[in-house]
Amino acid sequence: MLSESSRTIFKSDNRILAAMVSKDRINKIVAGYDKDNLVVATACSHTSLQVFAGAKREGFKTLGIVVGQKTKFYDAFPLGKPDEFMYLDSYTELLGRADELIDNNAVVVPHGSFVEYMTPKNFVELEVPTFGNRHVLDWESDRDKSRQWLVSAGIEMPYKIDDPKLIDRPVLVKYDGAKGGRGFFIAKDYPDFKLGIDHSQKFSIQEYVLGTRYYIHYFYSPLRTDGYKLSKGSLEMLSIDRRDESNIDEIYKLGATEELKKLGHYPTFVVTGNVPVVVRESLLPKLLDMGEKVVEKSLELFGGMIGPFCLECIVTDSLQVKVFEISSRIVAGTNPFISGSPYSDLISPGLSTGRRIAQELKLARDWDKLGEVLT
Ligand code: AMP
Repeated sequence: MLSESSRTIFKSDNRILAAMVSKDRINKIVAGYDKDNLVVATACSHTSLQVFAGAKREGFKTLGIVVGQKTKFYDAFPLGKPDEFMYLDSYTELLGRADELIDNNAVVVPHGSFVEYMTPKNFVELEVPTFGNRHVLDWESDRDKSRQWLVSAGIEMPYKIDDPKLIDRPVLVKYDGAKGGRGFFIAKDYPDFKLGIDHSQKFSIQEYVLGTRYYIHYFYSPLRTDGYKLSKGSLEMLSIDRRDESNIDEIYKLGATEELKKLGHYPTFVVTGNVPVVVRESLLPKLLDMGEKVVEKSLELFGGMIGPFCLECIVTDSLQVKVFEISSRIVAGTNPFISGSPYSDLISPGLSTGRRIAQELKLARDWDKLGEVLT
């Protein structure tokens, strides 16, 4: 998932697709790579421990991109420590240092923080082979386009309300630029909305879906033809988490929310951690079907979303599953599963999403199909 600020940056500049590094250029770079010495590179935050640990287990060298982060914490987790670090003053500097990455045979693995800090606009311009299809950013970063993608795929989403005067049910008001749900608030009618709204910020209004939040971590391989087959490639469901969000998860302890609101205490949705989840088994066909539909539609719309993605869902008490967001890269909710999950263990024991990325890279290299997973 990208923050709204990234969405805004991306949306405000529709020349971005034109600026995207061409597939030809990436293919040429890959053709010049020493394929036996590929280096997995990512930014030192978010899911980096998992990505590096997974890459190392699959026999790759690793490179950590550092922009102001402290790196000593990696010493505490040697199996997740990159072999080398590349120090930068800013993420923008990476654009000018692409050659160094290329000289190292580097493949960049994007994660949420990496794309957000670099900005999607700069990220698509980076002239370094990147795992996954960068075209997905165009569809994911624009709220209207991602809704169009998901709804046309047959996915149920929370109802969207354009005019605050028409609020006729509990809604969640989401601000543009709000990172990690900061400032989001719940309103049940127009007076409630007026009480909470900060008109200096751009906002959108979505039906508040009452239910349990599950974040489903999938992996789409355009290469594999076994397992849960799609029209091209196959789909895996590797794990599920739920986020711990402060303060909404705990605010009930202070008393009735309505009373607290009068005192100026609003629930907030800031993610502070992730908890592993296993869903009732009867939901699995539905969750796989949803993943399948989203991938099939992505193949039709922009050539396919490659590798890890996450559908952020709410399951209601009538077992409807509504998706409020899609994230088309590795999400931090996969971090509890560095040694596997109750789902990925049924595919291959000890399989994390980070390791699965490295396996796909290895498969693509061995089958001479790197062009199919790198853009
Ligand atoms: P988002 O930034 O869209 O991922 O939303 C942040 C948090 O707000 C989520 O993790 C959920 O807890 C909550 N949320 C988002 N959309 C909805 C919705 N339509 N109904 C209920 N809760 C939601």
